[in-house]
Amino acid sequence: MSRPNGHSAQSGDTNEAEEEPPGKRAIIIKPEDEPPSTIAVNGCRLLRNVPESLWKDWKWHFRNRITNVDQLSQFIPLSSEEQAQLRLVTRRYPLSVTPYYLSLINPSDPEDPIRKQAVPSVLEMTMSKIGMEDPLAEKEDTMVPGLVHRYPDRALMVLTNICPVLCRHCTRKREWRQGSWVRTEGEIEAMLGYLRRNEAIRDVIISGGDPLTLSTRRLESIISRVRAIEHIEIIRIGTRFPVVLPQRIDNELCAMLAKYGPIWLNTHFNHPREVTPEAAEACDRLLRSGIPVNNQSVLLRGINDNVETMLKLCQGLLRIKVRPYYLFQCDEVQGTEHLRTPVETGIKIIEGMRGHTSGLAVPTFVVDLVHGGGKVPLQPNYLLSQTEDELLLKNYEGNVYRYRNPSPHAVREEARIETSVSGTVERLLADTEIEIAAEGAIDADRVVVRS
Ligand code: SF4
Repeated sequence: MSRPNGHSAQSGDTNEAEEEPPGKRAIIIKPEDEPPSTIAVNGCRLLRNVPESLWKDWKWHFRNRITNVDQLSQFIPLSSEEQAQLRLVTRRYPLSVTPYYLSLINPSDPEDPIRKQAVPSVLEMTMSKIGMEDPLAEKEDTMVPGLVHRYPDRALMVLTNICPVLCRHCTRKREWRQGSWVRTEGEIEAMLGYLRRNEAIRDVIISGGDPLTLSTRRLESIISRVRAIEHIEIIRIGTRFPVVLPQRIDNELCAMLAKYGPIWLNTHFNHPREVTPEAAEACDRLLRSGIPVNNQSVLLRGINDNVETMLKLCQGLLRIKVRPYYLFQCDEVQGTEHLRTPVETGIKIIEGMRGHTSGLAVPTFVVDLVHGGGKVPLQPNYLLSQTEDELLLKNYEGNVYRYRNPSPHAVREEARIETSVSGTVERLLADTEIEIAAEGAIDADRVVVRS
């Protein structure tokens, strides 16, 4: 999933992803008028014809990904001009959508938030000069092919560049042009050797592309060897499968992962409509297998860039026991500028959530700095003023409170603290032109004033 490093390697190994390369098979769907189906699809009439046994089979979805404009136009109305534009875009930035994720799209709505994440836009080309290919400078921290080591105690293993859905906002769009690849056994051993030699590494993140495109058998052969390294305490898996192909999170996979804990899984829901019963079941299976699930959203223009949508998303995630962890500012990547929002939008969204819903539902808004500067959390300014003795703090309703700051020498300086409280507040109030709400409140430990 998002944020893997992307050095390419052509693999000679076999695995399910390679056995079933993108676009090799035509989708097995026959248009019929009103076929019976239990599949909850959102307007894609053709998908209602898929037998339930196939719909539940993640390999069927993976084999039958929609990977070209001709296939896409069977499901989503596209004018011939749009088709021509998309053909041009997909030459540089390819297309891949699973039937499951496609079924979440309302085909008659060009502004559909799921569509905007999966269907290419001509703006990817017309604005493609803005941004960078590799804004996070991930290549610089690659120690052996596929192994990124930037922070002392963490390392990232990038196993493949294949993803079931190619998200239009992906930080690693540069990888899409290299064709599909999976690390060879030799490359995996080189990565493991690096991990074994570096005892400061206690946390390994397994990512891609999407690492769950590998077969469960092959994944186990890698995860079991990571787990066997004594100084590795936790393993994290980055995957968007729970969102774009939840059928992949089957009992076999969960039973395998359960053997090698502690394993944490980070996924990537961006919109409340992605929180489907299938996604909920997938996350529930993981949780019952002892694998905590966290979510990392990306803030996207016209998709989730308002308080109402993010509230619905994060509250929906809590209902399925997934913790909203990060909300990322969309990285400065070429081909994504049309989806990026001003940084203030993210701060305002957090301000509209904090205090208005459970704290658990509020993710940390983060900007990932260019050139590998790391993540910087940003939040609304609740601290209006500060002296050694006290702080002036604004709460979620906009009310301002005086908060006495305990002195490290409180016992010895008791008298000084008491006098400093009211005097400091008077000065602060004058400085900030804030009115006191209740007369006499200035002498209280906490005063309510309105800005
Ligand atoms: S295409 Fe999507 S799932 Fe794959 S790495 Fe990019 S953001 Fe993650």
